[in-house]
Amino acid sequence: MSIAENLQRVRREVDEACERAGREPGSVQVMAVSKTHGPKLVAEAFHAGQRLFGESRVQEWEHKREQLHTLLGEGVGEIDMHLIGNLQNNKTSKAAWLYSAVDSVDTIKVAERLNAPCAQAGKVLPVLIEVKLSEEATKHGVDPYAVPGLVRRIHEDLEGLEVRGLMMVPPYSDDPEEARPFFRKLREIRDEAQQATGIALPDLSMGMTHDFAVAIAEGSTCVRVGTAIFGLREYATTPQEEA
Ligand SMILES: *Cc1c(COP(=O)(O)O)cnc(C)c1O
Repeated sequence: MSIAENLQRVRREVDEACERAGREPGSVQVMAVSKTHGPKLVAEAFHAGQRLFGESRVQEWEHKREQLHTLLGEGVGEIDMHLIGNLQNNKTSKAAWLYSAVDSVDTIKVAERLNAPCAQAGKVLPVLIEVKLSEEATKHGVDPYAVPGLVRRIHEDLEGLEVRGLMMVPPYSDDPEEARPFFRKLREIRDEAQQATGIALPDLSMGMTHDFAVAIAEGSTCVRVGTAIFGLREYATTPQEEA
């Protein structure tokens, strides 16, 4: 199967999941998660019309972006690349210009450090807050109770950031139904944070290759799909270990 065919199939399955959930087809974005895959595959997805991508490591994307410049020329500027992995403090200024959004903000410190270069350049970087819903040691993220406070802090004090919603990776299970309570919980946390702060949080990034249909039923607005588009990754680790 080509990447173009994979993308078409995933988009069709997303639309079908929307229909079953009584949601507008097209109300859910498909993010192509290209981590560990080479620039040629990213270019192939780009030529198939894909613009929204996700990668989890700053250095990896920095390197790949240079290679893509050779393959796509100015087209590389059209790539809407989100950071979806853990961000170290010393990589924040690089991340602020390498990505069009950071979906994995999980401390006020990271938010402040991302904000500084953006505010200075007069640009606004969209961010999501990553929420931790399980005690797995490898999972990053903010505790649910701390979400409204962090939303308010970013909105009120960090002019270089626009907080747009929440992101979450549930504990891995072969059975997608096991992830459902986590997806539902994230939506509830979003609804409560909106209520408590009066700040709109339209984006809910949840759902991956094996569970995106369930995530869509529970309100996802962006599914992060790697394997179903690009095939198996070389390193068989959990997503957050790769970050
Ligand atoms: C790798 C990764 C994905 C994609 O996972 P697949 O199961 O290959 O679709 C999604 N989200 C995050 C945060 C990831 O690190």
